Amino acid sequence: MAPLKFAVLAGDYIGPEVMAEALRVLEHAASQEGLTLEHTAADVGGAGIDKHGKALPDATVALCERSDAILFGSVGGPKWEKLPPKDQPERAALLPLRKHFTLFANIRPGLLYRELADASPIKSDRIPDGIDIVCIRELTGGLYFGKPKETTTLPDGDIQAVDTMVYRKSEIERITATAIAAARSRRRKLCSVDKANVLETSVLWRKTVIDYVARHAPELELTHMYVDNAAMQLVRNPNQFDVFVTENMFGDILSDEMAVICGSLGMLSSASLGAGKNSRGLPFGLYEPAGGTAPDIAGKGLANPCAQVLSSALMLRYSFGLEKTAARIEAAVKRAVTGGVRTADIAFGGKSVGTKAMADAIIAQLG
Ligand code: NAD
Repeated sequence: MAPLKFAVLAGDYIGPEVMAEALRVLEHAASQEGLTLEHTAADVGGAGIDKHGKALPDATVALCERSDAILFGSVGGPKWEKLPPKDQPERAALLPLRKHFTLFANIRPGLLYRELADASPIKSDRIPDGIDIVCIRELTGGLYFGKPKETTTLPDGDIQAVDTMVYRKSEIERITATAIAAARSRRRKLCSVDKANVLETSVLWRKTVIDYVARHAPELELTHMYVDNAAMQLVRNPNQFDVFVTENMFGDILSDEMAVICGSLGMLSSASLGAGKNSRGLPFGLYEPAGGTAPDIAGKGLANPCAQVLSSALMLRYSFGLEKTAARIEAAVKRAVTGGVRTADIAFGGKSVGTKAMADAIIAQLG
């Protein structure tokens, strides 16, 4: 098999710390299976600003264009907080990357192992088997991108701001296709979340999802839920969901709620898949932990590398078609953590290890 070619954008604060360990795990898993990695690092976020005057340097974009996937760390932190909002690392690096590569599908597993149930704010008797759900969020449409988007002063002197929620049928169909693929690989249950009792876009959303699933995946159990109810159901009984799919802003909010009920941000991975295909004919994607740069623990060797490791497993699955290797890495993380090797964020005051030792334990579990 040709080398696995991906760009490594580690970013700031804990970004490079957890990235180094994820690469070590990947190298180990790859060498066991005779796979070769060809990864190239580039600056992004605050590191891009400091070295190149730009959160997303041109050379970084060029590297990503030559790659089959992007393994991303996280960007931003107190050092750059005084910059104008439009130049802040997250806004000036991540959003343009999403736009440039039309990363329209955000896949976020909401995973909490049974052994870590105490990390969730939900009472553990409500989640005796932990949590295992997936959120699919549309990422390039809806209220965040619709035009007009402006603030104007009205003739009477009052000030008015407008955001516009827009969706095309084709945009809804392609995110539904991603959701179908995810549901097929799991328990075959798909819940579409909208606000079809109030919003025109949601009426189109629901009709399109119904038609598309009927044509392409009639075997799935398809349900619909209003977003306000979904927010409530997620904390009441998260495992009633298998895969849920929703538009951009609803997904932004629900995926954060899901992250909280799953305990530590240090365990949660994500994939953002593009409309385009990579050189292997598979989706180009950006893979990153759900958390940020954790400046409070950066430089101390304390960060949990699991989210970054699990993000790299998603990269193998979606952008390289290596399901078996991805599943092996996921199983190794699970065995290491449930076997008792834990960083401080998931140790509940018990014995904890540092970033490197956590990765060592995952590598040991890979055999
Ligand atoms: P954060 O996710 O960085 O941290 C929140 C809490 O979670 C902290 O207590 C942190 O220590 C903990 N945490 C996060 N990841 C962890 C890990 N891997 N291991 C152990 N603990 C972990 O959120 P924040 O403090 O609000 O943001 C810090 C910076 O990160 C900000 O500049 C923000 O803009 C940026 N940020 C970037 C991204 C991204 O790059 N995608 C996402 C979110 C936040």
